[in-house]
Formats: sequence, C-alpha cells, structure tokens
Amino acid sequence: MESLRFKAINALSHSNGTAELDNSKITGFFGENVFTLKVAREFLSDEAYKSLLTSIKGGKKIDRAMANQISAGLRQWAESKGVTHYTHWFQPLTGTTAEKHDSFFTLKGDGSALETFDGDALIQQEPDASSFPNGGIRATFEARGYTAWDPSSPPFIMEIGTGKTLCIPTIFVSYTGETLDYKAPLLKSLESLNKAAVDVCNYFDKNVNKVAATLGWEQEYFVIDEAMFNARPDLVMSGRTVFGHSPAKGQQLEDHYFGSIPERVYAFMRDFETESYKLGIPLRTRHNEVAPAQFECAPIFEEVSVAVDHNTLLMDIMDRVARRHKLRALLHEKPFAGVNGSGKHNNWSLATDTGVNLLAPGKTPKTNLMFLTFFVNTIKAVHDYSDVLRASIASAGNDHRLGANEAPPAIISVFIGGYLSKVLADVKERVGGKFDEQDEAILKLDLHRSIPELLLDNTDRNRTSPFAFTGNKFEFRAVGSGANCANSMTALNTIMAQTLKQFKKDVDALIEKGEKKEIAIMHVIREYIVASEKVLFEGDGYSDEWHQEAEKRGLPNIPTTPLALDAMVTDKAKSLFESNNVLNHVELEARHEIELEKYMKRVQIEARIMGELCTSHVLPAAIKYQNLLINNIKGLKEIGLKEESYANQKQILEKISEHINILSDLVEKMIEARKIVNAMTDIRTKAIGYQSQIKDAFFDDIRYRVDKLELLVADEYWALPKYREMLFLR
Ligand code: ADP
Ligand code: MG
Repeated sequence: MESLRFKAINALSHSNGTAELDNSKITGFFGENVFTLKVAREFLSDEAYKSLLTSIKGGKKIDRAMANQISAGLRQWAESKGVTHYTHWFQPLTGTTAEKHDSFFTLKGDGSALETFDGDALIQQEPDASSFPNGGIRATFEARGYTAWDPSSPPFIMEIGTGKTLCIPTIFVSYTGETLDYKAPLLKSLESLNKAAVDVCNYFDKNVNKVAATLGWEQEYFVIDEAMFNARPDLVMSGRTVFGHSPAKGQQLEDHYFGSIPERVYAFMRDFETESYKLGIPLRTRHNEVAPAQFECAPIFEEVSVAVDHNTLLMDIMDRVARRHKLRALLHEKPFAGVNGSGKHNNWSLATDTGVNLLAPGKTPKTNLMFLTFFVNTIKAVHDYSDVLRASIASAGNDHRLGANEAPPAIISVFIGGYLSKVLADVKERVGGKFDEQDEAILKLDLHRSIPELLLDNTDRNRTSPFAFTGNKFEFRAVGSGANCANSMTALNTIMAQTLKQFKKDVDALIEKGEKKEIAIMHVIREYIVASEKVLFEGDGYSDEWHQEAEKRGLPNIPTTPLALDAMVTDKAKSLFESNNVLNHVELEARHEIELEKYMKRVQIEARIMGELCTSHVLPAAIKYQNLLINNIKGLKEIGLKEESYANQKQILEKISEHINILSDLVEKMIEARKIVNAMTDIRTKAIGYQSQIKDAFFDDIRYRVDKLELLVADEYWALPKYREMLFLR
C-alpha cells in the first residue's frame, strides 16, 4: 500500500489554492454576529437596556425579572438571524473553550412545542464539572459546578457550517465558589487593578474614575497541508513533530519573513478574518513570520477581558476554517525543531476613562510624572514578581521556546530603550534623593518630544527581551502561542495592582510627614528605580553573557515548567493573589496541580508517540532498507566480486544497523523509565520525573537516531512526511 506520505504529496498537486472571497467592505459586516449595545438598544425595553448597561459598566448582577426581559430580547435577535441553539461559552483550564448546546425548543406540559429561553437559562447553567480539570477541588469539595453569565462580554453567534448557535460568555465556578476557569480570576484582577490605578491616578487627575488594562495580542502560527498533517501521528497527537531532520533549506535565507503570502494560505486567512470580523474581532494585520510556513495576525487592541475572549475565539475559528481549506493551523509553541517556534506577544497598557494611555508619555511635565509613575511601577512589579510572571507562561510547549536561542529566555527582564534608561538614571542620580519643585529631574520630564520617535521606531526594538517597552505599551513577548492570554494577563494585572497599592502607601506616608505631593512621588519613584534596576536589561537576551550576568544579578532562570510553577504557590504568591482578591490559596493550589498535570500528560503523550513511531514506522523502514542492502551485498559476493566492490554498501549497512540497535535499545529503556515515573504518586515529583527522567534523558537521543536514519534510509521507504515537504509544499 502506498504510504500516507506519498498520498499526501500527490494530493497536494490537486489542492485548490483559491476560495471565493468576500470583497465587500469590512465595515459592512463587522460585528454583525455580536449582541452589541446598539443591537441591545433595538431589541430590549428601556428598562431592560438600562439594567444591562449598569451591569456592564458597574459590574453589577442582573436581577431575575430583568434577566427574563433580556433573554427574551436576546432570543428574538438570535432567531432573527436563524439561530436555533444556545450555549454557555466558557474557558476551562484545559486551555480550549467549552460549550454545551441546548436548543430553544422545548415541550409544554400538554405536549405542544415551544421555543423558549428564559432568564434563568441566560444567567446560570450547570454543566457537569467533574470532567473538567479542577486540581482536587472536586475531591475535597463538590462535584457540581456552574457557569454564570459575564455581562462584560457580549453574547455572540457562532456559525458552524450552516448551523448557528447563540453563545453566552460565562465564567465557570465550582459549587462551593472556587473558580474553575481562566476568566473569573482575570475579571477579579482587572477589578483590583482598576481600584489601585484609579487611586494613584487621582494624585494627578481627580476626574479619573476607571482604569482598564488593554491588550493587543500578536498571534503566531504555522499552516500546513491537512494530508501532510494526517500522515504525521505525532502532530495529530501532540501538536508537534517529535522527529524530522532539518531540511537543506530552513529559515537561513530569511526569505519568508514579510514575503508574499502563498495563495492557499491567503485564501484561508481571508476566510478566518471574515468570520472573525463578524464576531467583532478587530483583526488588523497579517504577514509571514520568520520560519517557513509561519504566519502572524494581530488585532487592534481592546480592553483585556474582551481581547482575551477574542483571542480564544480566534484560535477556535482558525482551527475550524483551516480544516475547511484542507489545511491545519498549528498553534503549538514549537511544532518543528530547528526553525523558530511561535509566540503570542501580549501588548499591554492601561487606559483611563478620561481617554489617557497611562503608559504613553504626556505633553507636560505633570502628565509626564504620571507616565513615569506607571512606567516605573510596572518595572517594579515585574522585578518583584518575575517568578510569578514566569510561572504564568509556563507550559510543556513553551519550554521549547524559552531557553532556546530564538525566543525570549526564561529569565524575565525588562527592556526600556536607551532614552528612558537615561531618564531613569537621571532621576536616580539625585544625590540622596533630594528633589525640589524646580529640580531639573522633574522639569526635564518633558519626555513627549523625544520618546515617540525613538521608541515607536521598530528598528530600535530589542526582540530578544521577554518584556519590552515599545513607546506606549509593554510587550510581554514570552507568552506561548497556544496559551490562553488570561493566565499571563491575570498575573500582570495583579502584580501591577499590588505594586500600585504599595506605591500609594509609600507616597502617602511621605505626604503625611509634610512632603509636597510631587516631591513625595519623585522620592518614591527614585526609590523604586533603585530597588528594581537589576531587572532592566538592554542587551542581547539570547546571549550566554546575559545568562551569566543574570545569574550574578540574582535573577531567576528556571527553564523547565515543573519548577517554574513552584512560584504559583509560594507564601509570597498566595498573599499576592489573596490580598488582591484574585485567587485564594485553595484555588492557587488547585491550579498549580492542574498545570503540573497538564505538563506531565503532554510529555507522557509525546513519549508514547515517540515509542510508537519508532516501533511501527521508523524501525520497519530501516529494517526494510537494511535487508535490501544485505541482499545486495550477498548478491555481489555470490557472483564473485571482491570485497572492495561492496565496501560502501557494507559501511552504510553498518551505520544503519548501529542506529537500529541503539534506537530500539533507547525505546525499551524509555518504556522502563516511564514505568518508574508513572508509579510516582506526588504530582510535582511525577512532573519533574517526566521532565528529567523521560524528556531530558531520552527525547534528544532518540530523535538523533531517528533523524540519522531518515537521511540514510531510501526515501521511498520513509513513511513520515519530511520537514521539507511539510514546510515548503503547499
Ligand atoms: P508594534 O508591535 O510595531 O508596536 P503595533 O503598533 O501594530 O505594532 O502594535 C502591536 C499590537 O499592540 C497591536 O495588537 C496593537 O493593537 C497593540 N497595541 C497598540 N497600542 C496598545 C495599547 N495602548 N494597549 C494595548 N495594546 C496596544
Ligand atoms: Mg509588536
């Protein structure tokens, strides 16, 4: 039988590169599947609309009577668009999204049919929580969990094929109140940050009543042909290729980056963009990335909670639409060894309800003092809690990026650019921290003229920094491409809230002692600069020198997930998340366990698929070729040729035989090692076991042998699509 590999290569030449594209203006259909306030105005009574508005703006619960009115309006709108089912849509800790569809259709007592959707169904549902990860909360507490409507995120209609479903964004909570999803703690962190940031803003502007964190994510991904994907069981099972020799041509020519987008991929992009626009996802840019077959898209930034929903939705949409085009979008952080992995840069800033971006330099010394305050507080937050940030992006997939010389390292540092480094140095230089109102350091905070052109200049960026200031926002670049942004954003919001609260205390203490406000602020800023300067780094984050330097500075560098996750459950982390009312210690411990388990299972799956592929794909192909060589040598010998005439064949045969022996040996040993690790009961020990005794101990060695065999064995015997085929053929 012809192998899937050759079928895939054949099929490729028949694939259709184009699709019918909708060339109408985006504004014509943008958000058409979203229950926006404008739609709500149309479908709700005045009373219901007002109630909805206050719960969105003020985060208040909707009362039951109003809920009935709102749900009726929602159903009317949805039905006008051909919707038959609804679902509570949520983001469990699995990392994907979850939904359970119910129809509007129901039967009355007398057996007659009716379409209904009442307020209770809108506000709360009880999906069975027991099959979602809950890190032991289930065992100790209650099996049931419920989803609760989050009015801050608008309902939307998901179109799958010709079916349409009304999706109600919800949070997911256990019956005893512990959160079981990514969204609930995110919302809480935003609340805490809002309060802390408003308090600090009010030093400068009494009119500020609300501060919202903003997020613009940049999503990187790979696209490969579906048939190729299906012929790679490792991609299907684990999302990454565990074997594959690097192709003769990789990304060394750098000819892919910003190159012209291949037609088939372009059709896919246009299609998923259209679906995204309908759902109100404001996609803005698309381009090729550095690695072959790698691409990126990014939206216009939004408030964090909406941006998070939009990113998870987009990941969903990409996956579905790709299949429609007989492609696969790979969101794994490292689907291919030897070429760049994928990240999800999280651009983050703070915006006031008065329309000010708090991380953009202002136009006067006074507004610049406000900028400097938030700027320095962010640096201090990252400095104080770099371990918490690191933990928030830890995953089995991301371990392949952080620490490899292509993505920001596992060492969390902050890049701010030459100009702001100088500003901070100037402030710091005030001898003894003395400031008066005419002080140059304050007057010189006339930043707006120099900063924009310096920092908004793309070429002046440091791409090796995990956390970089880019002129009017920070860019958290170490987030993994497959991650739910909520995790890292929750951490960032919370550490910022905590730092701002402390900042206010410190400034107030000086004011109480009789210091003038601006001077007090300058003093504390100076103190924070001194306290956190070791986290600042302007150089090459990929270099060995930085690793040594970081060690000297005492910055943590934890390259593996199981150990990085420890930072979630330290006393420091518990007090941080508890005092900001984001996660209590039970929830933190549960989440810690869930992340460890996810890590462990992922490595376990990879180990299994490696073993399986070796036994059923690699070794049979190698042995088949081995036999061919044996017969060839035998034949040459038989007809009486001298040994020199088959010396080369013998040499190849020896090499192949050596690889075969060592490889089968390694596979056996890995199975034995897994038995030992599997017997471990403590989840942390087990996760560390999988990392050190399985992944580190075997993966590279096994891969080395397989990749050597790939080069040696006759191409026609090799059943797994090769890198050059997956990355370059479309
Ligand atoms: P660059 O990376 O060159 O700065 P952009 O200006 O396009 O490119 O920004 C990249 C991402 O940062 C986009 O998603 C953009 O919406 C987002 N972004 C811009 N300003 C902000 C902000 N104030 N807060 C959050 N994200 C922002
Ligand atoms: Mg950017």
